[in-house]
Amino acid sequence: MLIDTHCHIDFPEYNQDRGEVISRAKDNGIEYIINIGSSLENSAASVELAKNHACVYAAVGVHPHDADRFDPDGLEKLETLARHDKVVAIGEIGLDYFKNFSKAENQKPLFKKLIGLSKDLGLPLVIHSRQAEEDILKILKEEEITRAVVHCFSGGENFLKDCLDMGFFISFTCNITYKKADTIRRAAELAPLERILLETDAPYLSPEGMRGKRNEPVNVRFVAEKIAELKMISSEEVARVTTENAKNFFKLK
Ligand SMILES: [Zn+2]
Repeated sequence: MLIDTHCHIDFPEYNQDRGEVISRAKDNGIEYIINIGSSLENSAASVELAKNHACVYAAVGVHPHDADRFDPDGLEKLETLARHDKVVAIGEIGLDYFKNFSKAENQKPLFKKLIGLSKDLGLPLVIHSRQAEEDILKILKEEEITRAVVHCFSGGENFLKDCLDMGFFISFTCNITYKKADTIRRAAELAPLERILLETDAPYLSPEGMRGKRNEPVNVRFVAEKIAELKMISSEEVARVTTENAKNFFKLK
């Protein structure tokens, strides 16, 4: 059994066959799917999905890309959503200085506000970090955060070490299968299995051989297989430990 700890199946890419995508995952050993919020609207959709499907849990949050157009009134709405009992994390939140779709001066205060919400509700964080490692670590340290997962990990050895030292989980997507992804594979070799979570980030980042197509939760098995290969252990062992990790981290019942 595997858990896809990060995907976006509320997105319009799944409007034609969302139910089938969820069934296909269930029928192929995906025990749970955690659907991640990326805006107020997507967070509401995420909670709705979780209400309608026993195997789906939700996270609510606002992606740093959306920081410029985030309406401060949205925070209260987000909190109401976050109080639903199938909401297991605040995310994805963080900083993105690569695409810079929103200004850094707007990203940071939003990130801090949402960290505040996670503290109020006792929920862990799902972190998006892109070319923002220094600020991410600085803020999380200041806020004394220990329960966080760095999603779609693509950092170097130093960032990995800092994250592990702070007690964070490291999450890998299907991009670990890409030909040029040596840095990511190196991180997966170095990170202890007890601190690894698996995800697809679907609809994005389809595995090698399916690139450019829509991704879906069932493909999380490719991440498990690659990590097994890198660590020279069985896929079953990777599945067992990472599923246990996810259940503990998100407190899945
Ligand atoms: Zn995502």
